[in-house]
Amino acid sequence: MSPSPQTNVLVALPAPMEAAVTRILAARDTFRILPSSSGPGRLSQGQEPAVVVLSGDVESELLHAWEASCPGVRFVFVSTDPEAVQTLAEMAGLEEWSWSVLRPEADPIEIRQAVRTAAGAQRALKDATNARNAVDSAVKERIADLESANRELSGARDAAETASRIKSEFLANMSHEIRTPMYGVLGMTDLLQETGLSEVQRDYVTSVRKSGSMLLNILNDILDFSKIEAGKMELDPVPFGLRESVGDLLRMLGLRADERGVELLSTVDPGVPDSLVGDSLRLRQVLTNLVTNGVKFTEKGEVELTVKSDPAPAGSDAAWIRFSVRDTGIGIPEEKKPSIFGAFNQADASTTRRYGGTGLGLTISRSLVEMMGGRIWFESEPGKGSTFHFVLPFNRHGTAAAVPADVTALSGMEVLVIDDNATNRRILGDMVRQWSMLPTLAESGPDGLAALRVSSEASRRFDVILLDCNMPEMDGFAVAAAIRNDPAMAGSTIMMLTPRIARRTPVEAGSSASPPT
Ligand code: ADP
Repeated sequence: MSPSPQTNVLVALPAPMEAAVTRILAARDTFRILPSSSGPGRLSQGQEPAVVVLSGDVESELLHAWEASCPGVRFVFVSTDPEAVQTLAEMAGLEEWSWSVLRPEADPIEIRQAVRTAAGAQRALKDATNARNAVDSAVKERIADLESANRELSGARDAAETASRIKSEFLANMSHEIRTPMYGVLGMTDLLQETGLSEVQRDYVTSVRKSGSMLLNILNDILDFSKIEAGKMELDPVPFGLRESVGDLLRMLGLRADERGVELLSTVDPGVPDSLVGDSLRLRQVLTNLVTNGVKFTEKGEVELTVKSDPAPAGSDAAWIRFSVRDTGIGIPEEKKPSIFGAFNQADASTTRRYGGTGLGLTISRSLVEMMGGRIWFESEPGKGSTFHFVLPFNRHGTAAAVPADVTALSGMEVLVIDDNATNRRILGDMVRQWSMLPTLAESGPDGLAALRVSSEASRRFDVILLDCNMPEMDGFAVAAAIRNDPAMAGSTIMMLTPRIARRTPVEAGSSASPPT
């Protein structure tokens, strides 16, 4: 790079050499020669040299003084001993690129070239420094802009959060206010149903009751959602019995499943502790939502709730329990999976039309599970079904370990299970086996009757017959009648499993089953 016109050069050499070099440089008007008497610190502004030409035996202090008064200055040493110059440069701590050496016998072209190169490099450094400073100040300006934009944004966010909280609080209050008269409407409708109504009037009142309770469900969802949003949802941990709680819930939901022709099944692993401390109402709410969804989104097949112990994470002495609700329903489309726990999210618009719902159930469930210290997730295959799992920690209450009933009297008894549903047969078989009973499984009424006949021909008798009430082809009542009418098969205790009991009671049957007579 060629130096710009008027590059300041200071030549400070022994007298004859200084005059010669000055003359050579002054012959080109690109160099402005500064008086050699103007040493470092004695220069007016704008007079700083870009290049200083010195002999190789100067004191290193002089070099420091030049560097301090003219940052970036280049040195051209005139010396017969390049190694001595190297030592001097190292002592003075000069950067490798900031100096060069000329021999005293160098010709004018070499001298001008050396000074021009040094000046060009100095200029390039100056330009680079200027450019960096310009970039630095642009970056600083940008950072200041961003900081101020951030301040504005966080102000706006705080305002939006406050507005949203106020809205949620308003919604929470409003849904509470609307809910109270709703209870009045529903209560009065119940009373009205008990009065002497004509058939048409009864129909109307039943419709009012149905619509009212749907509206109440929606209000409850909105109330819970807005409470969570407003940070006002609180947990109320109490001692409770897990099996009783799950059993009650399934008894209630079994009706709805039965109306839709969906089998509702459940198992609670014997090893799962029963006496727990936790918010049983909120647990029930999450289970209700998952089981109700399972039933709602299953046209045909079954919904199964399983409850198992989960390994506790290191350092936790709580009982970690995993609840899984599996269905054989429509499943969840791949693209909807990431947003399914979001508020007001439904798989697609037609879902709302076809199945109803607010799209709040899973959002509320997730918030509740997380508030209770657990986590929730799901697997789903469109067209095949979904399984929702959640794991929760509970404190143990008392020392009761698992199923409390004494079942020793059942040991060795022969049980015939007649149920068309394979999962239910498996559950019932596993359950009675846990009590040391000996199950035979039959998948239909005629199959069961055949098993009874074989057993009677061998002069044996089943102690208990667990008989599913709802079966295609030959229902439980027909099978029971056939058994009763055949003296060869009679004599066993028949326990009829209705949807309201059987679909809930693999859990409960243990406590409600009495030993056969
Ligand atoms: P809602 O059922 O009131 O619409 P949820 O939050 O409980 O609201 O569920 C959100 C959406 O997730 C449902 O609308 C449905 O599209 C999908 N979904 C939830 N559970 C299931 C399930 N078991 N099978 C298929 N889809 C489901």
